[in-house]
Amino acid sequence: MSRFWSAVTHSLTPYVPGEQPKLANLVKLNTNENPYPPSPKVIAALAETADARLRLYPDPTSQSLREAIAGFHGFVPEQVFVGNGSDEVLAHAFLGLLKHDAPILFPDITYSFYPVYCGLYQIAYREVPLAEDFSIRVEDYLSTPKGGIIFPNPNAPTGMTLPVAEVERLVAGNPQVVVVIDEAYVDFCGATALPLIARYPNLLVVRTLSKAHSLAGLRVGYALGHPDLIEGLNRVKDSFNSYPLDRFAQAGAIACMQDRPYFEQTCAKVAASRERLTAGLQALGFAVLPSGANFVFARHPAHAGVDLAAALRSRSIIVRHFKHPVRISPFLRITVGTDAECAALLAALTVICG
Ligand code: PMP
Repeated sequence: MSRFWSAVTHSLTPYVPGEQPKLANLVKLNTNENPYPPSPKVIAALAETADARLRLYPDPTSQSLREAIAGFHGFVPEQVFVGNGSDEVLAHAFLGLLKHDAPILFPDITYSFYPVYCGLYQIAYREVPLAEDFSIRVEDYLSTPKGGIIFPNPNAPTGMTLPVAEVERLVAGNPQVVVVIDEAYVDFCGATALPLIARYPNLLVVRTLSKAHSLAGLRVGYALGHPDLIEGLNRVKDSFNSYPLDRFAQAGAIACMQDRPYFEQTCAKVAASRERLTAGLQALGFAVLPSGANFVFARHPAHAGVDLAAALRSRSIIVRHFKHPVRISPFLRITVGTDAECAALLAALTVICG
């Protein structure tokens, strides 16, 4: 509390990221990072970037990177916006595309940064309850007036995927507003809305290199959509920070986009481990929601989520537990690790739950 703070600063409830512990030897399954390293081509590109050119500012438009992303997805650079992690892309979308008079809609159980951006930018919002089985009901997003819609697909922290046909029904049913689909985890299931962009100028798809591309430390995210939406995002970006992506981020991300085989192998490994982890948890009595992401959301009928998280912590395994909303408090969100990490988790839970 300080008398020097602005009124909006007083009113903020900031996002709390998952713990990034300093201790080595922890099995870290709490922030949905990829257990595998980035492509060796990324590491080589970063090494090449470490030279005297660092005295110069980076390209403010990230033109080469936007070309690489466009090429990766079969789009044109005018349909691509890049930012310092997808969190920054999302922030600009909240201010530049979603902030209108009517409240915006997002699920009551979803990425907890969304209400934080609403607080920062003073955007009214309404949380739409998920169905009993934690799925998103498209009907609930079709009728009431709204300023815009945003949700992750797969959703976080449930990991559940809305089929693309249902995403299309939602986008087609809301032509007056922007629908933002946050596809942070989509590479682990493939249910992408990208093909809809050609038909729906109100659809913005947000992506990140933090998960499937193993680059959480580089901070690169992007959005794809109609050039009008991209221009709006650029207006916000150029009113905020001309150089959100430094030279390393641009060079590393370009190399990443140019190594599709490595990316596909990594995604396939994580998806296969997810299925083994799910089966292992079910064998211990856990109920596991169907996940299209690189994490699973699971609860045990006889053990509280908070107790399980603490018991795992004492065995040097960290997972994520959310106290709120109360409906998800029995659950643990467990990132899919290497097979050895998943085995360590299952061994610890066998003792704890046994
Ligand atoms: N969207 C969702 C749904 C997420 O879970 C995350 C990761 N916390 C992000 C966006 C942000 O990812 P990043 O800023 O690392 O791109």
